[in-house]
Amino acid sequence: MTSPDRHSDRTAVFDRDERRCRHCAADGDDDSVTLRLYPLSDEPAADAHESALVTVCDDCRTLLESAPEPAAMDNDDLFRLVRDTTGVQSATISDVAAFASLATSLPDTLESAVDDETDTALDDSIADYRRTRRDIALALDVVDARLERIAALESAVDPDVRSPLAAFSETAADLQSDLRRVVALGETVATGLERCHGCFAALEVGERACSTCGLAVRETADWGGDDGQLAFDRLFATINETLQGASTTTETLTDRTMTLAEQLTA
Ligand SMILES: [Zn+2]
Ligand SMILES: [Zn+2]
Repeated sequence: MTSPDRHSDRTAVFDRDERRCRHCAADGDDDSVTLRLYPLSDEPAADAHESALVTVCDDCRTLLESAPEPAAMDNDDLFRLVRDTTGVQSATISDVAAFASLATSLPDTLESAVDDETDTALDDSIADYRRTRRDIALALDVVDARLERIAALESAVDPDVRSPLAAFSETAADLQSDLRRVVALGETVATGLERCHGCFAALEVGERACSTCGLAVRETADWGGDDGQLAFDRLFATINETLQGASTTTETLTDRTMTLAEQLTA
């Protein structure tokens, strides 16, 4: 499934991302920072379309791609790892809420662009959609990588930390699933508008994969309305419910994080 035009120009992706790591903001013009491409799909970076690539620094890419090794870690370091992980996850919740709001406004934005014969607002929304979607996918992968590192420590921690740590990890993983589900529902809005949910290129009728970026077209059979169009109202209601579910999970996670923090700093 690769063709020469899929090979992205690395420099173009770095420039698009303003030559900074999209996770930690490390500046690529700094001599100590090496920028890398991170693929958000399963394809290797060399084959991925630019809409599925983000700029990261060497350190962040190492975190994302190296397998965690079980290692002894003292409670202070574990506390910092947990705290930083929940920090990234909290920021991601805001981004996911912003993405949901952007996605649910897309049908109106598209419609006004047709009415007004001007594309500026639409172009801005599309750029926002692509960027927010990429940033969220990167942040979710970073949290997964951190949770894997935490999981690798579980057997090595103090016995009285083990149970609150397992409870924390379980809820953090639940929140990851909630957030990914909101993103998938938001992407379905793009598909309902006959756009690719990744690069936002217009799709041809019946196309199974986007001819621009190669991404498989998302299934919308669950969201069919009476008139053969996508039932946006029902989809939007489900997006809101799923976001509310994520906020309930977040409350549980906050409680469990506090219990764990008390145990770690005791
Ligand atoms: Zn970085
Ligand atoms: Zn596409």
